[in-house]
Formats: sequence, structure tokens, C-alpha cells
Amino acid sequence: MEELKYSGRREGVGTLPVRIGNIEVGRDFLLAAGPCSVESEEEILSTANAVAAAGANYLRGGVFKPRTSPYSFRGLGLEGLSMMRRAADSVGLPFGTEVLDPRDIETVSEYADAIHIGARNMQNFPLLIEAGRQNKPVILKRGLCATLSEWLLAAEYIMNEGNMRVILCERGVRGVDEFTRNTLDLAAVPMLHELSCLPVIVDPSHGTGRASLVAPMSLSAVAAGCDGLLIEVHPDPPHAMSDVSQQLNFSEFSALAEKIRRAEEFRRSL
Ligand code: PEP
Ligand code: MN
Repeated sequence: MEELKYSGRREGVGTLPVRIGNIEVGRDFLLAAGPCSVESEEEILSTANAVAAAGANYLRGGVFKPRTSPYSFRGLGLEGLSMMRRAADSVGLPFGTEVLDPRDIETVSEYADAIHIGARNMQNFPLLIEAGRQNKPVILKRGLCATLSEWLLAAEYIMNEGNMRVILCERGVRGVDEFTRNTLDLAAVPMLHELSCLPVIVDPSHGTGRASLVAPMSLSAVAAGCDGLLIEVHPDPPHAMSDVSQQLNFSEFSALAEKIRRAEEFRRSL
């Protein structure tokens, strides 16, 4: 593959940790949780409380939503950003949110602790370049059917602008099956750890599209060596404004967070 000037693994050097708030992702396990979309002050506040109490160390939530149909809920935009900041501050967690448009990136950087680049924008080069000019960590999700080389070269676009704080997020690729939304590629985790110095986290929510598969795939991702997980959690998933089938409710997330903690502890002991 082409030269990985910044993201490539160097002989004898392990994963280089990326700091978000006071978490060193790559050394500390990132447990990111929150709703697919920020819907209201109450929704994001109650979710922030629940995920923090369960042991999450990062709040996620979309305010600019990349929806397949323009007629679906597309997020609260700027209003959602300030709601997220308040919710995250109320529980002392850092938060991150997706940016779709390079023109919004500076505003998002002012509010958020990390920038997400979603699957649909993994090769949006102007967006990658703009993210590379920010002084914020970037969670770069794998493209809908991107190869690992394409994904790592997308990370190079960000790093080449001077921003070395990139975290890769495996979120499944388009597969052949009708029951799962995507095929979660867990082999990508150890493969990327061989190829790259960047931390690798896994999103089993978008990776499967089914709430019942989130726990088994989270634990499998821990076994595969991931540096963190990104999980969608909503107060009332059947009535969510997006991704109804894959979000966990508070008690499901709390039970899973405890299993993740134990699985991670076990993995470290191996
Ligand atoms: C998300 O995490 O909110 C999201 C839209 O995910 P993806 O870009 O992986 O589809
Ligand atoms: Mn979602």
C-alpha cells in the first residue's frame, strides 16, 4: 500500500495514545455513549446522566445528521450543540459530534471536545483537510465500503495538515446479509493495529443496526483488541427520531457497560 507517513506503525512502537479531555485513548479504554441524535434538552441531559452513571467516559450525539432521505429528521444543528455542551458539563464528560460541512467545523470545534467524521464523509477531502487544521481530536469512521488502505489514507489527509490526534472507528461495511444493517469487520481491529499507530474503536450500533447484537459484538470487539467502543443509547429507543432499532435503553447500557469493564479487565490480564 501507499506510504503511511504519519499513521503507519513504526517498528517497536505501539499505538500512540490520543488525548480527549483527560482520557488517553489507546492507553485508557474509551467508552463513548449517547443518542444517535440530540432531540431535546431533556433527552440529552437524561442520557448524559445515565451513561455517566453506568461508567461511560465520553458523550456522543448527533446534531448534524446525515440522513438518507432529506425528509427525515436532520438534527437540531447549533441549538443541539449548546444542549450537548451543557449536558456533558453537567456530568463532567467530554463530548463529540459529527460534522458534515467544512463551514461548520470551527463552530463545532468551539463547543465540542472531539470532531466525528461519519462514514458517508470518509473521503470528503475538503472536510478532512479542515479537520486537520483544528486543534481537536478527530474520530474518523470507516466509509460505507472503504478498504483499510482508503481509510488510512483518509487519516493521512487529516494528519498531513498537522492534526495528529486521529482515532479510527470501525462501524461495519455494506454486506450481503438482510438481517444486519452492515457487516462489522472485527478483523479490521488487529489488522489496523499491525498497519497503524492510531487507536481503533468499534461502533457495534451502526455496525449491526440491531440492539440485540450490540452486546455480543461489543464483547467480541474487546476480545479483538479495540481501544474503545461507541454505543448508541436513548431514553426510549422505540420513539427515537433516528436509528430506532439499534439504540440501547438505559438499563441495557448499564448492564453492558459492566460486562465491557469485566471483559476489558480480563483482556488486559491475558
Ligand atoms: C453516527 O455515528 O451518528 C453515524 C451517523 O454513524 P456512521 O457515520 O458510521 O453511519
Ligand atoms: Mn445513528
